[in-house]
Amino acid sequence: MTRTVYVNGEYLPETEATVSIFDRGFLMADGVYEVTSVLDGKLIDFEGHAVRLERSLNELDMPAACSKEELLEIHRELVKRNDITEGLVYLQITRGSDGDRDFVFPDPETTKPTIVLFTQKKPGLADNPAAKKGAKIISIEDIRWGRRDIKTVQLLYPSMGKMMAKKAGADDAWLIEDGYVTEGTSNNAYFVKNGKIVTRPLSSDILHGITRKAVLRMAAEAQMEVEERLFTIDEAKEADEAFTTSASAFVMPVVEIDGVSLGDGTPGPIAKRLREIYLDESLKAAI
Ligand code: PLP
Repeated sequence: MTRTVYVNGEYLPETEATVSIFDRGFLMADGVYEVTSVLDGKLIDFEGHAVRLERSLNELDMPAACSKEELLEIHRELVKRNDITEGLVYLQITRGSDGDRDFVFPDPETTKPTIVLFTQKKPGLADNPAAKKGAKIISIEDIRWGRRDIKTVQLLYPSMGKMMAKKAGADDAWLIEDGYVTEGTSNNAYFVKNGKIVTRPLSSDILHGITRKAVLRMAAEAQMEVEERLFTIDEAKEADEAFTTSASAFVMPVVEIDGVSLGDGTPGPIAKRLREIYLDESLKAAI
C-alpha cells in the first residue's frame, strides 16, 4: 500500500514526495527528529515529543517549521489517512537547503527548514513477543558526539552498534564511556538491584527520553525506589534484572548482558510491572 506522507506543507503519496539533494539533513545530518507511538489510533505522549523537539531546534539555532498545534494536526491527519491503529509517526526537521553545499549555515531568513513526516504500521506493538522474551545486550564503546541530549539524525554509530549486537547474536548494545554506561543505541538503560531501580542522571551525555521521564514518574507513584547515578556494566551484570525504555518499545526487559544471564534469565517483575503501568497509563492519556 502506498502511504500518504507529509513534506513541507503537502500530503503526498510516498512515491511523489521529494527533498532536495542539497538538503543539509542529507549532506550534513543537520536535522532533528522525533518518533511518536500510536496505540489504538491515538498518539502517545505527543506533548513530551513536541516539547523535546522545540528544545532540539533551539539548541541548534534552527527555526520551528510549524506550530505545536499544526504539528498535532499533521500527526493526526497522517494516522487517519494511513489507517494506523498501532504504529509510529516519524517526524524530521532539517535546516533545509539554499541550493548548494557549505559548512556555514544558510540564512534562516531566506532558507526554510525541511519538514517531513511519515507513518509506520507496527501491528502488535504493545503486545510485543520480544518483550515477553526479553532482550540480550552487548556492551560497546560510546564514541558518539558530545551533545546526545539533542535528538539529531546522526544515527550511524547507533546503527553500527545494533549491527554489532546482531553479529554477536544479541538484540541491542549498551554504550560505555569512561567506564560507565551511558544508554542503549536507541533507548535509556536501567538495572534493578534489591528492588532499587538505577539509571544514569540526565546530562548532555544521554538523550532525555520521553519514556524515561514518564516511567520514572510512574515508578515513584508506585512507591518503587529510584536512584539516578552513574553505573558500570559490571554492576548491571550482577543485577537482579534490567530494562530499557523508548517511545517505540516502551519498557523492554533485558535478560542478558555480555553473555551473563540476569536473575533466572527471564524478564524481571519490576520491568514487567512498569511495562504494564506505562502502557495502561499512556493509553489513557493518549490523544
Ligand atoms: N536514547 C537514545 C540514544 C535514543 O535514540 C532514544 C530513542 O530514540 C532514547 C534514548 C529513548 O528516548 P524516548 O523514550 O524519548 O524514545
